[in-house]
Amino acid sequence: MLLMSNQEHYLSLVNEIQEHNRRYYLQDNPLVSDAEYDQLMRELRSLEEQHPDWIVKDSPTQTVGADTEEAAEHALLARSPFAPIQHLHRMTSLDNAFDDADLQSFEDRINRVLGTSGQTYHYTCELKIDGLSINVHYHNGNLIWAATRGNGVIGEDVTQNLLTIPGIPRKLEGVPEHLEVRGEVFMTKEEFLRLNAEAEELGGTVFKNPRNAAAGSLRQKDASITASRKLQVNFYALGSTEGLSIQTQWDLLTWLQGHGFQTNPYSKRVQGWQEATDYHREMIQQRPQFPVDADGSVIKVDRFDLQNELGFTSRAPRWAIAYKFPVEEARTVLRDITINV
Ligand code: NAD
Repeated sequence: MLLMSNQEHYLSLVNEIQEHNRRYYLQDNPLVSDAEYDQLMRELRSLEEQHPDWIVKDSPTQTVGADTEEAAEHALLARSPFAPIQHLHRMTSLDNAFDDADLQSFEDRINRVLGTSGQTYHYTCELKIDGLSINVHYHNGNLIWAATRGNGVIGEDVTQNLLTIPGIPRKLEGVPEHLEVRGEVFMTKEEFLRLNAEAEELGGTVFKNPRNAAAGSLRQKDASITASRKLQVNFYALGSTEGLSIQTQWDLLTWLQGHGFQTNPYSKRVQGWQEATDYHREMIQQRPQFPVDADGSVIKVDRFDLQNELGFTSRAPRWAIAYKFPVEEARTVLRDITINV
């Protein structure tokens, strides 16, 4: 009987998190802070580890974004003003680390999957900017479309809106016939405050944080509104490296810069999980100076051949992890409204 009520608790937690996903991904209007959300997800993961037979197919631990029937209907078909677009290669999320021990476990897991023992690996460490991911598709070097991540398989066509953001090459030379370049669209803290102050004055939408403001601004029916919002974008991945001679994540960042893509300047190549924790601490120290909201470091196995061997789970790569920053108590006070950032 007790077991039943535990399982009921599990199912209600699934529902609760799905509701938060809808609010966050579809309405850009979350009810709880990211830290509270992450805590619910930790509880869900722990219940699933103890009771693997309880795991439901649409559990938020198994899916990307707001992957529910309603999301499919809303975001991808009926109620979305944007046409659905199928990504050539699936877009995933990232698993999280919350302390150094999690990062050590990450490297241990890599050793286990690769059949090595106690080996340290090279990682490219990057800043995890808090925005929304975008997939830009090039055909024969020409930019054809750009889509949001959606449920990882199908996203929303935001091409016209994305083209209003500077720093995105329209044409590339010497690339494979089909190329997907991926990055993060974001809004600076300064622009977020300006936008909210303006909304306050004119009675428009006040956004909860820069991430929601970026998502709401990119997903506008009228591209001229997006253009007025001063969004920015950083690129950090390709959908596939087939047909290119890039061997590592570090070289990919150089390749992207060489082809005119904006990249984040805070990246660093390190060896072993301990050096990765040093990078993470350095980023925490510098965090107050960042002009953008960043919610962690992303630690990626550097070599692509090893990434291929490690592969993916249903929602995230096994070769990368997001090491989250500690919860920030900082608050931005905007006239008489207080906004958690
Ligand atoms: P995520 O944001 O934790 O991590 C994956 C994303 O990181 C990628 O899709 C990409 O967009 C981004 N990213 C930024 N920089 C990157 C880089 N250098 N390399 C690779 N990826 C990079 O995953 P998610 O699935 O988009 O969202 C989950 C998180 O969103 C939660 O942990 C929580 O913080 C927040 N969330 C909050 C609520 C809420 O109600 N407050 C609801 C849902 C999600």
